[in-house]
Amino acid sequence: LKVADLVDQSYTRIQQVESKVRAFLTLDEENARLTAAQLDEQLASSATTSDLFGLPIGIKDNMVTEGLRTTCASKFLSNYNPIYDATVVTKLKAAQTVTIGKLNMDEFAMGGSNENSAYHPSHNPWNTDYVPGGSSGGSAAAVAAGEVYFALGSDTGGSIRQPAAYCGIVGLKPTYGLVSRYGLVAFASSLDQIGPLTKNVEDSAYLLQAIAGYDAKDSTSAKVDIPDYLSALTGDIKGLRIGVPKEYMGKGIDPAVKEKVLEALKVLEGLGAVWEEVTLPHSEYAVATYYLLASSEASSNLARFDGVRYGVRSDNANNLLDLYHMSRSEGFGPEVKRRIMLGTYALSSGYYDAYYLKAQQVRTLIKQDFDQVFEKFDIIIGPTAPTPAFRIGEQSNDPLTMYLNDIMTIPVSLAGIPAISVPCGFVNELPVGLQVIGKALDEATLLRVAHAFE
Ligand code: GLN
Repeated sequence: LKVADLVDQSYTRIQQVESKVRAFLTLDEENARLTAAQLDEQLASSATTSDLFGLPIGIKDNMVTEGLRTTCASKFLSNYNPIYDATVVTKLKAAQTVTIGKLNMDEFAMGGSNENSAYHPSHNPWNTDYVPGGSSGGSAAAVAAGEVYFALGSDTGGSIRQPAAYCGIVGLKPTYGLVSRYGLVAFASSLDQIGPLTKNVEDSAYLLQAIAGYDAKDSTSAKVDIPDYLSALTGDIKGLRIGVPKEYMGKGIDPAVKEKVLEALKVLEGLGAVWEEVTLPHSEYAVATYYLLASSEASSNLARFDGVRYGVRSDNANNLLDLYHMSRSEGFGPEVKRRIMLGTYALSSGYYDAYYLKAQQVRTLIKQDFDQVFEKFDIIIGPTAPTPAFRIGEQSNDPLTMYLNDIMTIPVSLAGIPAISVPCGFVNELPVGLQVIGKALDEATLLRVAHAFE
């Protein structure tokens, strides 16, 4: 088997299904075929290859790729060709993968359905009337539809785990700081993390191995030794202590989804684990806390899009202030504007203490909830999302309902800890995800549990 054949299969599959799935914003076929040919040549002349050698991959369109258009699914960046690679992209190139293209998302990663893409929504491969989730919906759909072997996504409040759950694949949000954010277009810098979307847990371990590690170019990068994640996949979870938060299994959860989680817990019991109900008492404040903090950080991060430095510039302006104003009015979509306004308000003097500061304090309480449970338990398990995927258009006029889809993923993001979503069955012929949450930097245990279960 040649890399050229793998890449060819990838584009053939794209030709077959992409008109229905619409996972990609940009394809990079010419370069991908060139890279494939080079890798095939290298293989002929040397025997050493990486574990990911020659595999066709996709990258969410908020990670910069040198010379390859990076839009964040925004009109604002429709013409943006980065002059450097994100650290994760550099690492995957070093691992001899082949980039097939850039994947659709909610604009600037704000959303949970892909309907906030300024270009087009992506569709759930299991039923194309349904959303693939988001914001990494293109990444999840492309993997689920077999267009690429695996993809990178980013997760700020659930954007890797929720689309993985909706599309029936594996999505891992690493501990904050484990994977470099250098070259990831910032949404909420204290929450953003890059992670793998893959067909199975083993692939997730391989991909995490390739992208994790300290990077001096990211000031929040963790200086830690990276364990061998593959050796964690032992299948042995005897004696594992699982906490199941009652807040994730109570009101708001679809009873059929709850049933699937309880069935999964039985499987884990059968493998020798034990579980008990636990409480994360501040969970009810997580969504409000998240939308204050994430929007505040977004309003600050997105100030750089001024029509001067990046992307498109309004043709209609006659002076500098108009240029800022019009470029931003024309360039950003409605959800992005909503968040910028929310965040600017929360950060403004007079409201800062009541909103932003208060939210930071509640964030600490949420983190302490997890610390307390982890004193007695190895792992926390619950659903990834309260329901399976919903229909395209069903929630798009109702931002608050949309925000509640992340009720079980957001607390983990606020605490900075890792979590993986692994498929645990179907409800109404749509996939459901089991969320396995771990201690900070304990991805190995997450992967071990998810692998034993799958
Ligand atoms: N759906 C959440 C939001 O809209 C999470 C997004 C994300 O994780 N990037 O903010």
